[in-house]
Amino acid sequence: MSYNVDSKGYYGDFGGAYIPEMLYPNVEELRQNYLKVMAEPAFIESFNALLKDYVGRPSPLYFAKRLSEKYNTKIYLKREDLNHTGAHKINNTIGQILMAQRLGKKRIIAETGAGQHGVATATVCALMGLECIVYMGAVDIERQAPNVARMKMLGATVIPANSGSKTLKDATNEAIRDWINNPVNTHYIIGSVVGPHPYPDMVARFQAVVSEEIQWQLQEKEGRKDPDYVIACVGGGSNAAGAFYHYLDTPSVKLIAVEAAGLGVDSGESAATSFLGKEGIIHGSKTLLMQTPDGQITEPYSISAGLDYPGVGPMHANLFKTKRAEFIAITDDQAMDSGLELCQLEGIIPAIESSHALAVFKQKTFKPDDVVVVSLSGRGDKDLDTYIKHFKL
Ligand SMILES: *Cc1c(COP(=O)(O)O)cnc(C)c1O
Repeated sequence: MSYNVDSKGYYGDFGGAYIPEMLYPNVEELRQNYLKVMAEPAFIESFNALLKDYVGRPSPLYFAKRLSEKYNTKIYLKREDLNHTGAHKINNTIGQILMAQRLGKKRIIAETGAGQHGVATATVCALMGLECIVYMGAVDIERQAPNVARMKMLGATVIPANSGSKTLKDATNEAIRDWINNPVNTHYIIGSVVGPHPYPDMVARFQAVVSEEIQWQLQEKEGRKDPDYVIACVGGGSNAAGAFYHYLDTPSVKLIAVEAAGLGVDSGESAATSFLGKEGIIHGSKTLLMQTPDGQITEPYSISAGLDYPGVGPMHANLFKTKRAEFIAITDDQAMDSGLELCQLEGIIPAIESSHALAVFKQKTFKPDDVVVVSLSGRGDKDLDTYIKHFKL
């Protein structure tokens, strides 16, 4: 049994492509071409060259000595925070912009919640000289002014979504509407391992560079390519998918997926999708999602903007259901404390998303000779205001 996608686009019971008929030509064009394009030597060469010289890969695998001493185990941090634009999201947007070029697309659309994926998309559009339209909920535009400014500086057009709760899911609806109306010239860059097949698989493959690097970096440092544990936070699940990818079918490597409990899993203010979610369809794929008894999507909550997504990618829904990965929910307060601890023990200010992954060390005891790799998905510059308010700095 494999934990990877099957030929029909499913991870166990989850995944697929539940799309309106009018979207079928776009998704089918991508499905028929993505693996072929990704296997072309010229594509691989362009992707690798940009990852190296533009993103700054390989990202270091850093042995966190003081953190390791504190928790009496061997902790390595995979430093995605050092990438250009400050997180792992750029790995995927570089891959997708090259894909869009190969498919002859001239116009790029994206949805964004907190604005991080919008910035990563606007960045690669500027790099390639392609038109970029980012849909963003009107409420999020208010809340995330610095990222809106970044997108505008990078030449993108930001269109407010004024329907519904005026947040991410409404922005996604607007983006899909745009795509239906512009099927020939437009590519939709999705920001995580979510959406209809082949998106979750395509995004996971672009992010897989993370675990590919961990394998040889760990070989150099520990004399073995497999750690005992890989820990990553999960919003939609792309940094986790990248960090897990080459270990999915290696059972000796234990996988820990960390979700945002918000104010507590049972508080009504949470984003712990696997614990709270039920099977349903969101953004074209069958997965676990937070919903009311009659199937309306519930607004998620987390202090970290990147984790408050009401669903989880189908790969992770399957990892949860099959118990291949252990899922742990971390509250706002626990994450913030662990973020501050990393600052003070290692001199690294993590994104609040990544702080959730670090908080596992307070929940779970590891053995002294366990090798534990944590995906440090992003840097904390974007979160300074939130840290300042939380700690009254
Ligand atoms: C967006 C984001 C996440 C959550 O997205 P995934 O697709 O679950 O990885 C995590 N960390 C950072 C720094 C982010 O920007």
